[in-house]
Amino acid sequence: MDNRYRLCPQCGSTVFQTAALGDRIDFQVRLTGQGAPLDGGADFPPPATIYCRDCAWRGSGDELDILL
Ligand SMILES: [Zn+2]
Repeated sequence: MDNRYRLCPQCGSTVFQTAALGDRIDFQVRLTGQGAPLDGGADFPPPATIYCRDCAWRGSGDELDILL
């Protein structure tokens, strides 16, 4: 499996959250667009809007940068 992840277009972080507040999952976004939870759980399709854990960016997983 390709273990590279998409990056926040604003700060370069690879860690995102499923919601801004409350119950949320910390995850990374694979190059395929699937979410990979930091706790090691099963991959899942991220919600339409995701939140960078390290800055104020929010948006779609499709907007994330990909390091080639
Ligand atoms: Zn960010």
